[in-house]
This record gives sequence, C-alpha cells and structure tokens, in this order.
Amino acid sequence: AKKAGRNTFCFYDDGMGSDVSERTLLELDLRDAVMRSEFLLHYQPIVDAASRTVRAFEALMRWTHPVRGTIPPTEFIPLAEETGLIVALGSWALHEACREAASWPGDLRVAVNVSAVQFARPGLEKVVGDALSASGLPAHRLELEITESVLMSDAESVVACLHRLRDLGVRIALDDFGTGYSSLSYLRRFPFDKIKIDRSFIRDISDGNTAAIVRAIVGLGERTGATITAEGVETAEQFEGVCREGCNQVQGYLFSEPLRASRVMNFVEELALRSST
Ligand code: C2E
Ligand code: CA
Ligand code: CA
Ligand code: CA
Repeated sequence: AKKAGRNTFCFYDDGMGSDVSERTLLELDLRDAVMRSEFLLHYQPIVDAASRTVRAFEALMRWTHPVRGTIPPTEFIPLAEETGLIVALGSWALHEACREAASWPGDLRVAVNVSAVQFARPGLEKVVGDALSASGLPAHRLELEITESVLMSDAESVVACLHRLRDLGVRIALDDFGTGYSSLSYLRRFPFDKIKIDRSFIRDISDGNTAAIVRAIVGLGERTGATITAEGVETAEQFEGVCREGCNQVQGYLFSEPLRASRVMNFVEELALRSST
C-alpha cells in the first residue's frame, strides 16, 4: 500500500498503531509498577442501614503512575487480568488490606475484591491464609468479593475453593449482583454470606419495578441468611429507598468516597458522632 488506498491505509495504521502502542506502553508500565510498588488501596465505608455505623471498608486499588498520575482500576484491572499480573497484584492487595485492617478496632471488617483469574490459578487459599497469619487479622474480619464471572467457568473447582476459604472463617460476598446473565443460578451454586446489589438498581430505586426487585433480593437474603448491601447510594432519596426495601447495609458517595488509609479511623469516629445525635 504505497499510493493506492494510501489514505485508508494511513487512517487504519494510525488508529491501530496508537491504540496498540498505548496498550503496550500501559502494559510495560504495569509490569514496572508492580515492581516499583506504585499501587495503594483506598477504603470505602460500608454502613449499617439501621444504626448508621460503619461495619466494614472495601479495599479499592489505585495506581499512582509517576507521569500520568492516578489511573483508575477500571483502566488497569482488565489489563492486569489479561496479562496475568492480577495474580501478583491481587496477592499484594490481600496482604496489604489485612495488614491495614488488623490495626482497626472492634470487629470492623475489610472487603477485598478477588478476580476470576486469581481463582483460576492454584494458590489462592494459601495467599489468603498467609495474609491472615502474617497480619494477625482474625479470618471472620476478612470478606472476599467475587463477581459472577468467577462462577461462570469450571464452577465445581471454584465452588470447592469457596467452601475451603469459608472453612478458614472468611466471608464470601457476591458483587455486582443482578448485572450478569444468570444471577439467580449463581445463588444456587454457593451460599453467599453477602449479596451486593449493583448500583444500577439503586440508581433506579424510585421506579416501582426496580424497588420490587430489590425487595425480592432482600427476601432472598432473609431466607438464606445473606446480608444485603446496596451499592452506589448517592442521594438521601436513594438511601431512604434502599432502607424502605429492607437492605441491611449501604455503600456509596452519600456516606463517603473511598478514603486514604490514614483517614479510615477519622471517618469511623465522625460517623459515630453524627449518628448518635
Ligand atoms: P466494584 O468492586 O463494584 O467497586 C465499587 C466501585 O464503585 C468503586 O470504583 C467505587 O469507587 C465506586 N463507587 C462507590 N460508591 C459510588 C457511588 O455512590 N457512585 C458511583 N458512581 N460509584 C461509586 P473503583 O474504585 O473505580 O473500582 C472499580 C472496579 O475496579 C471495582 O468495582 C472492581 O471491580 C475493580 N477493582 C478495584 N479494586 C480492585 C482490586 O483490588 N482487585 C480487583 N480484582 N478488582 C478491583
Ligand atoms: Ca467490589
Ligand atoms: Ca460492586
Ligand atoms: Ca463493579
């Protein structure tokens, strides 16, 4: 393609080229970043709906890139999953979150997201066990958040793994509930300790049909003993809505964005003050 179709070729080449190199650069950066420990965890409070006190914090990964600044997880987690780097990154997150949470008072829990790729490799149970023993965090204060994609493939070995993790005393939460293709079927495969209703439902909670679905999920939770958490609660109206439908816990910008580790204890105390007055 020298002359004929040159424009087309150039257009195609430029488009592809920049896309591929952008990706490759980010991938190279990601490998370095794991070595250079450019990652940190932020913690978002999960609040008990009735008492309005903090029950747990969800650990959410942040990448502080030396040039690009903070890169959100939605941009680098998929890449880390494709390249397998998520295995190292996920182990780091488990260790870091447990270490941090071990210094929190009372029975505050920490929730850590675990990718389907981590379940597909052997060794997850050992990583979890090591993170607990190295930090001294009691197992019941660790919650693992998994999405439906974890149960999509090779369900039997995954379910066996979930049972062994549960036997350690760790709690298992089903994340982003309602967004997958066969959400209900996943509930039959494993008795989850917690179900987190995806924020798309919470956004539309003022709609009667959506409220009815949320109420039905709450009913499921009551029958199975699962705690129901509403994700992405941003407004007072949404908070009222999810409380009315019976959700046990809420998480979202209305209460707090994900916080730096150093601000976790401040938040717990502030909210306790606000809720007692
Ligand atoms: P997720 O597990 O569903 O986490 C909740 C996401 O919703 C977080 O985005 C949080 O900041 C955001 N969020 C919280 N409250 C609100 C709200 O009121 N409104 C809106 N619009 N958003 C809210 P974030 O931190 O950007 O993380 C995005 C996703 O990246 C997470 O979704 C999770 O799937 C993944 N992720 C983050 N950290 C990790 C990790 O350590 N390991 C793995 N495997 N995935 C992670
Ligand atoms: Ca999550
Ligand atoms: Ca979620
Ligand atoms: Ca999500």
